[in-house]
Amino acid sequence: MGPIDFVLPMDGKQSIATMKVNIVGCGLSGITAAILLKDKGHSVEIFETRPHIGGNCYDLKVGNVTVHQYGSHIFHTNDEAVWNFLNRYTKFNNYIHRVRANTKEGLISIPFSRKTAEQIGRDLDPEEIQELVFRDYSERQWGIPWEELPKSISGRVPNKRDNFDDRYFTDEFQGQPINGYTAMFNAMLDDIPVQLGVGPDAWKGRKCDKLIYTGKVDAYFDYKWGRLPYRSLRFEHFKASKDNLYSFSNGAVINECNRNPYNRTMDNSVYLNEDVDETILTRDYPEEHDENNLPIYPKNFGLGAELYSGRYKKAAASEADTLFLGRLATYKYLDMWMAVKQVMVKLEGVS
Ligand SMILES: Cc1cc2nc3c(=O)[nH]c(=O)nc-3n(C[C@H](O)[C@H](O)[C@H](O)COP(=O)(O)OP(=O)(O)OC[C@H]3O[C@@H](n4cnc5c(N)ncnc54)[C@H](O)[C@@H]3O)c2cc1C
Repeated sequence: MGPIDFVLPMDGKQSIATMKVNIVGCGLSGITAAILLKDKGHSVEIFETRPHIGGNCYDLKVGNVTVHQYGSHIFHTNDEAVWNFLNRYTKFNNYIHRVRANTKEGLISIPFSRKTAEQIGRDLDPEEIQELVFRDYSERQWGIPWEELPKSISGRVPNKRDNFDDRYFTDEFQGQPINGYTAMFNAMLDDIPVQLGVGPDAWKGRKCDKLIYTGKVDAYFDYKWGRLPYRSLRFEHFKASKDNLYSFSNGAVINECNRNPYNRTMDNSVYLNEDVDETILTRDYPEEHDENNLPIYPKNFGLGAELYSGRYKKAAASEADTLFLGRLATYKYLDMWMAVKQVMVKLEGVS
């Protein structure tokens, strides 16, 4: 990623004029872009199809529990600039993510560490870990038999630790925004104008000097070369007593490494240490993406990679007045810190 040539209009008297920049999408990428451009003196406005801010990181209070509407989100990074940027808008608590896997050996800590070996009473070699933890989970997640999964996915495992560290992320900075993600986004947006619940083409009729686009790149081009494939998730939220199987003080998520139809079960009350008798659990069920669900994981391999690199990426690069940012517009899975970083880097050259 390098700074882009984001040429500014000149008005003769001033060396640099203020731009009107419209931003499509009010997720983390769009909001970060709005702040950075506003900080540089430009006028920004955000257009969002959903009835709420925050994109997939959105959370909401249901009773006394802060529910992650689109599945478990945990902030982690080693990037100090990203960390400092978000700390302008929220404090983070000291939540450390620990994940257990529901396997035929029982509930075990993952990634596989010496602690896991202790839990099951023996060490496992890489092939055994692959079978126990990764095969079923990955097949369900991608809807593809293990043997046919691209090496970019199956080659990432097994992730084995030669120590007793049972933290899921080992990044220097981690935690959850103390009042949740939506509260953080509200602070970030401050007086930035946002139009919620607009139609997907609303941005097309609005005048601006430049456009930041964080929606699906294939939708921007009206699916001219066909649809980019995504895997989607269906989320199920339900009440459960706090002393259920899935609730534990040591972390919020259990991965289902078995033939259950759902990937994970998470206890929403754990992230902010909410003191409740009854909690809300969330399960995510993988399914193929179509017009009735959300594009969640880009299938950026095989035909998806060919279509993106061969067509949409090139077309996006030649749009002089539009900058494509975020996971949908760059067709790449981005953790939250990566989404912020991508925007920072791409807008570096803008004055
Ligand atoms: C299940 C799940 C779990 C995750 N867990 C983690 C985690 O633990 N840690 C982590 O760091 N990251 C996690 N992530 C990644 C995180 O969600 C992303 O980094 C982040 O959402 C990226 O923000 P974005 O703005 O690029 O995309 P989005 O959040 O998708 O925002 C894009 C926005 O654009 C809007 N939009 C699209 N098209 C249009 C249009 N035509 N007009 C107007 N608006 C439009 C969409 O409605 C959406 O609100 C997870 C993601 C998922 C799906």
